Parts: sequence; structure tokens; C-alpha cells
Amino acid sequence: MRNGRLWAGLLGVEKTTVGRVEFDEDRALLVAHVRPARGERRRCGLCRRRCPGYDQGQGRRRWRALDLGVVVAVLEADAPRVRCAEHGVVVAAVPWARHGAGHTRFFDDQVAWLAVACSKTAVTELMRIAWRTVGAIVTRVAEDAMAGMNRFAGVRRIGIDEISYKKGHRYLTVVVDHDSRRLIWAAAGRDTHTLGRFFDLLGAQGCAAITHVSADAADWIADVVAQRCPNAVRCADAFHVVAWATEALDEVRRQAWNDARALARTEPRRGRGRPRADAAPRPGHDRARRLKNARYALWKNPENLTDRQADKLAWIAKTDPRLHRAYLLKEGLRYVFAVKGHAGREALDRWLSWAARCRIPAFVALGRKIRKHRVTIDATLEHGLSNALIESTNTKIRLLQRMAFGFASADALIALAMLALGGFRPPLPGRA
Ligand SMILES: [Zn+2]
Repeated sequence: MRNGRLWAGLLGVEKTTVGRVEFDEDRALLVAHVRPARGERRRCGLCRRRCPGYDQGQGRRRWRALDLGVVVAVLEADAPRVRCAEHGVVVAAVPWARHGAGHTRFFDDQVAWLAVACSKTAVTELMRIAWRTVGAIVTRVAEDAMAGMNRFAGVRRIGIDEISYKKGHRYLTVVVDHDSRRLIWAAAGRDTHTLGRFFDLLGAQGCAAITHVSADAADWIADVVAQRCPNAVRCADAFHVVAWATEALDEVRRQAWNDARALARTEPRRGRGRPRADAAPRPGHDRARRLKNARYALWKNPENLTDRQADKLAWIAKTDPRLHRAYLLKEGLRYVFAVKGHAGREALDRWLSWAARCRIPAFVALGRKIRKHRVTIDATLEHGLSNALIESTNTKIRLLQRMAFGFASADALIALAMLALGGFRPPLPGRA
């Protein structure tokens, strides 16, 4: 094997001629001098069309490559500029790196792969780069991957959701494909203009092919969907409808807690430390404390309760029938979406008349809200669009957001989400 080909294989470069290789022992740095293979020279960095040369640009440049063993490796090459008929004067394309990148393709791909799989520290330590650089890399890898394929091909049934990030100050609008179960689009913002951009990308034909759209009940989403996809059946996201019930339940719990605290204020104060055995009982204090901790017992699905939480629920059933009724109403609504179909619609009828008579304002109001959205809720029960997909996308993006904290922009969070949930994660370099 010729040395040049061996080096090309080790460095993971294609269509590239490797010339002299130097090793700087003091800095443990390997420098490989390379140039694009014949046929790869003088191409526009943006569109890769062949162009006339323009000048030598900024002279020689370096690109960080994957480490070779324990040694940091870089490629060094000329970076001439060309004059593209469409893009004007641009730095010429190089086969070993994405346009404008300071790292090789393989380096980028490995960072993107790791960012989805590992902790922040693992990625930055292993690859010896800053977290912001990871953000820039995942952004360009995702853009490159998405440009290379039509992610909207064959899309029929979509789900639209708004997900808060940065502690609820900012929002992403996301679109999932119910059939491939993938994230297909995300953008910062939550308004008609933002969502309009998705339908622009989808195009008139793509919009006409959409048969079902699930979304939360936000009017702005309903308006855009009605306008852009007039043929689509609109379905309410069960995930959000159940979340309304959880919010109503929490309102009832807070009332009960406030009542207990009001009672507690009439009770005698106690000093620090363990109370004396003959101390007067303080039922208000005890109730307030137990209700405060009851939040998760009320929120969780009964099948996931710990023993302690199940005990707490039993205590609520015994001591606060109204709060317990609110809990049963929440669970009843969850049941509607669990059984789905005709049985689900019947269960919803029963639930609505129960809610109307329950004498708990939060649930009376919820009943009215659900009646208002009955058509889209019935569509969900009939067409069985999974709420698990929206729910899990929501949860996973929140997790990614924790990782993406420290990236400069929402673009990097979106890119990370597309890599992790959109199926755009590149394979590890050198693997099929
Ligand atoms: Zn061009």
C-alpha cells in the first residue's frame, strides 16, 4: 500500500491526496498536508459547481481531524477562492470538510453522534472541544443531513405541538409524523407565522396530502391548519386534554392546601425541635404539610404510584372527599382516551354529565372547555392518533434542552432534536 493511501484511510478522507505528513513531537500534533483530488478542485463551496479560480484567499488553513491514537491530527491545505456564477466569490469546496467548518466531516459526524448519546462532559473531554463548538457542529451536521433528503416525503398524519424551553420564556413549534414516529420539523416561536413556514416548506402538494392533524387546542394552530390543510381531519391531542384535567386537579389541591393553611394560622405557634408529648394537636399544620406533599400522588397514573403515594391517596379519599372527587374526574378523563373509539365517546358523555354536576368550579369549567372542543376530541377517539408520540417528543425535547443549555442559539437545540428524534444522526465514521 502506498503511504498516501494509508494516510487517507487513517485520516478518514476521500477524494483527497495526502502529501507530506509531519509530527510535532513537542505538541503531540500530527499535520497532514493535503489537497483535493483532481476533479475536486475549483468547486464552489456552496453548490459544488465547477468555477473559475479567483485568488489564493487567506492562504493555508487547518482542519481538525479525528485523533490518531492519542495524537491530535490536523489537515493543512490551501484554501483558494473561486468565482461562482450564482454565489459570487467564495472559498472553494474541500472534499474532507463541510463548507465553512474548521473540522473534518468525520470529526463533525463523530461529535454529532456523541452529542445524542453521551453527556456534555463526555463529548467535550473526549473530543477536546468547547460545548459551544459542539453546538455549531450539531447545527451544521443536521442542516447538511436534512438538505440531503426529503424529510416530508409521504407524510400524511402529523402532530403539531408547542414546547416551552428556557423555563417557559421561549417556545418551539414542533411537527411530528405519526406514521414514521419522527420529529420532522421544529422552529423557535409559536405563532401563525412560524407554523406557516412549515406549510410553506411542505408545499401545496404536501399540504393537500395531509389527512390528519393532531394539535393542542390553541386557536392559532387550528386557524393555520384549517387554512393550509382544508382536507385534513383535525384531532385534539389527548396528551394536552389530560393535562388540562391535571391542571384543574392541581387548582383544587391548592385550594385545599390554602384552606388548611388558613386553619393553621389560627393554631398556636411552636418552638424549634420535637414537640412535647402533651402539645396541643395542630390539624391545620398537619393537613397543609401532607397536602403539599400529595402533589405527585395526585398527578401520577395510579399504576405508577409508590406505596407511600398510594397511602397518601387513601388518606385523601378519607379526609377530603372533594379533592378525591377531583382526582377521580382526572382519572376518568384519562380512561376516555385509554379506551378510545366508540367506548371512549360513550365514556366521555358520561364524564361530561358527571363534570357538570360535580360542584367543583375547576372541573365544571373544564367540562365546558371540553364540550367546546368536542368535535376534535371525538376525531382523536375515532382515528386513534397516539398521544404517546407527542408526549414523548415533549419529554425528550425538555431533556435535550437541559443539554443544549449553553449553546448560543435555539438553532443548536433544534439541530440536536432533529439528530436525536428526526432520524438524522449520522453513523459513526467508518461504519456502515
Ligand atoms: Zn455556487
